[in-house]
Amino acid sequence: MSVSENLEAVRNRIAEAARRAGRDPDGITLVAVTKTFPASVVEEAVAAGHTVFGENYIQDALSKTTQIPDATWHFIGHLQTNKAKTAVEHFDVVQTVDSERLAKELNKRAKNANKTLDVFVQVNVGGEEQKSGVEPDEVEPLLRRIAEMGNLRVKGLMTMPPFLEPEEVRPYFKRLRELRDALTGTGVDGVDLSELSMGMSGDFEVAIEEGATVVRVGTAIFGARG
Ligand SMILES: *Cc1c(COP(=O)(O)O)cnc(C)c1O
Repeated sequence: MSVSENLEAVRNRIAEAARRAGRDPDGITLVAVTKTFPASVVEEAVAAGHTVFGENYIQDALSKTTQIPDATWHFIGHLQTNKAKTAVEHFDVVQTVDSERLAKELNKRAKNANKTLDVFVQVNVGGEEQKSGVEPDEVEPLLRRIAEMGNLRVKGLMTMPPFLEPEEVRPYFKRLRELRDALTGTGVDGVDLSELSMGMSGDFEVAIEEGATVVRVGTAIFGARG
């Protein structure tokens, strides 16, 4: 199967999952994850009409973000503070804000670049020690800090749940949505939490059923990573 056929198949599966959940498929953004693949593969997806991509290693991403600057680039990996400047220069969205320190640095760099950066707060819903992301009860204080930062615009929450079978991950997706709903109720001023980034190749349909508005899909589009 070609990238273009795979993209179409994934789009159809997204639409079916949305319909099952009584949701509008247009409310779901597909981030095509191109990590480890060359720029030529990104070009193939662009030729098939796709323009939103995700990368999780800054160094590996630069050749692609430079060659295909008109696409929308989401950073989805763990971001070190010393890479914040490069991330701001090359990415439109950083989905993995997991500390005030990182948020401050991104805000400073975005300000210097005279730009507003869209961000997601990454939440460790599984409470796993080795996973990045803030604990659920630390999300609200972090959002309050970010709300004061003039060059960051919060879009929502993101999570990488434990690596489990799709049905076993469902409770984690549900937890992220419930956390978002609870935070929306408390109304952190100036913060928009309409987006939920959750779901990958193995479980994006379950994520959509649980409210995902952004799914991050690599393998199902580009094949297995070497
Ligand atoms: C690699 C990656 C994905 C895509 O995973 P697939 O299983 O290949 O779809 C999604 N999100 C993050 C954060 C990733 O690192």
